[in-house]
Amino acid sequence: MTLPDAALAARPDVCSACSGPLDSLGHCAKCGAAFGEPYRCPLCRAVAGVEPSPTLYYRCRSCGGPRIPPTESPISEAEAAYLRSARSEQLRAAAFRGGAGFALGSGGLSLLVTLVVFLVTSPAPFAKFAALLASLVPFALSFFALRRARSHSRKLEAALQQAWLLAASRLVALRGEMSAQALSQVLRIDETRAELLLAEVSVQDFVHPPAEMSARVRVTELAGPSDEAAAAEPAPAAAVVSKPTISSH
Ligand SMILES: [Zn+2]
Ligand SMILES: [Zn+2]
Repeated sequence: MTLPDAALAARPDVCSACSGPLDSLGHCAKCGAAFGEPYRCPLCRAVAGVEPSPTLYYRCRSCGGPRIPPTESPISEAEAAYLRSARSEQLRAAAFRGGAGFALGSGGLSLLVTLVVFLVTSPAPFAKFAALLASLVPFALSFFALRRARSHSRKLEAALQQAWLLAASRLVALRGEMSAQALSQVLRIDETRAELLLAEVSVQDFVHPPAEMSARVRVTELAGPSDEAAAAEPAPAAAVVSKPTISSH
């Protein structure tokens, strides 16, 4: 009876932060700390827990990047690739949002300064017009930055959907037939979303190529004509799973 001891030695049997019980994957239900190898983040490589996120479904407690909650089978390389792609789109969207906010702030300030100058001086009408036009430039910049941010958010969403779809098909392949309730428990999502994922998995299984998916790829990856051609190309679903075409612009 030494085998259980040896197995437990690899990992603490209670949470070292709060002494709560750990589940089979090494996750503390009480404080959310993670100790098991399944909790290694594919993005930052830290063993860290996941927490719900309004935009990413689940995010890494260490790096804040998108994660898929660990299950009994490790996430595939394709899933990790989509998560990495989602992570870079997440960072780009945040950068453009920050830029838009900064431009908006400086635009407001420059407009204010221009109006104050108009109050205390009386410039020629043309100078007035030119000054007003110049102070509107940051607002235009802000508008374009926001549009770029939105485009990166859409790419983020598309990459996330692909990663979760692959995760759902991995679990369905592993367990055979799976109910929405079972999938929602394993992936820690609500049953409505689990049902949608299962529906997409079965669509992917029976239709080559899945019409809904390729339409989404076309909408979100308008980067170049080669991407569109690749998306329109009737590729078998298996090839799509093993070799994801991710655009990271
Ligand atoms: Zn704990
Ligand atoms: Zn991480």
